[in-house]
Amino acid sequence: MKQLLITIDGPAGAGKTTVSRMLADRLGYRYIDTGALYRGVAYEAKVAGISVDDDPGLETLCRTLTLKFVRNEKGTRLVSGESDITDNIRAPDITMRSSAVSARPMVRTCLLDVQREMAREGGVVFEGRDMGTVVFPDADLKFFLNASIDIRSRRRHTEQRSSVGQTLAEVEKDMRRRDEKDSSRTVAPLKPAEDAIIIDSTELSVEAVVERMLSYGTVTK
Ligand code: C5P
Repeated sequence: MKQLLITIDGPAGAGKTTVSRMLADRLGYRYIDTGALYRGVAYEAKVAGISVDDDPGLETLCRTLTLKFVRNEKGTRLVSGESDITDNIRAPDITMRSSAVSARPMVRTCLLDVQREMAREGGVVFEGRDMGTVVFPDADLKFFLNASIDIRSRRRHTEQRSSVGQTLAEVEKDMRRRDEKDSSRTVAPLKPAEDAIIIDSTELSVEAVVERMLSYGTVTK
């Protein structure tokens, strides 16, 4: 059976990660969370004292950075150079920084090759914001997953509660700011590809979303 390249784009908190993981599991595919790569750049920029609008600084950083996903007993980990930075990239300030650095064209160009390299063998589900529009315009199957802002912030709040400590109102405020930034930037803005299948997950369980995705020929193609 052909090993497909599947993309899932959408705003923060739409359920992309859980859905992508489950879909990849059902198909025996790999799953790549491209947001983690932008978060990795944002985290390393912070550590190096490079501000989010310092283009020359970010360019030098991106040229020297090696980000890769490694599977071990803790799951899929993001490794930068020799360091496992998975536990450092979800803090609220890194989240906002990742949205800011992702609007810088050279950061996107740098991560373009990294992402395409990860797709070489097929059999992958890629999750992000511009997977179907820019990175993989020829993907076999493209989905755009959306949900109301209310449900997206509730889900994110529940998910983060113990580790981050933000109130629901703070989560919603950050999410609105990030949606606005991600959708209005000039390079690779968040939007559905013309040939994407749009799924609203506001009233659907994760399982129902995955079943719907599978019904679009992912297993029979
Ligand atoms: O998906 P996640 O919320 O972890 O992504 C963090 C940030 O990375 C997003 O707010 C977005 O600005 C950026 N991003 C992007 N393109 C992608 C994936 C993420 O610009 N393909």
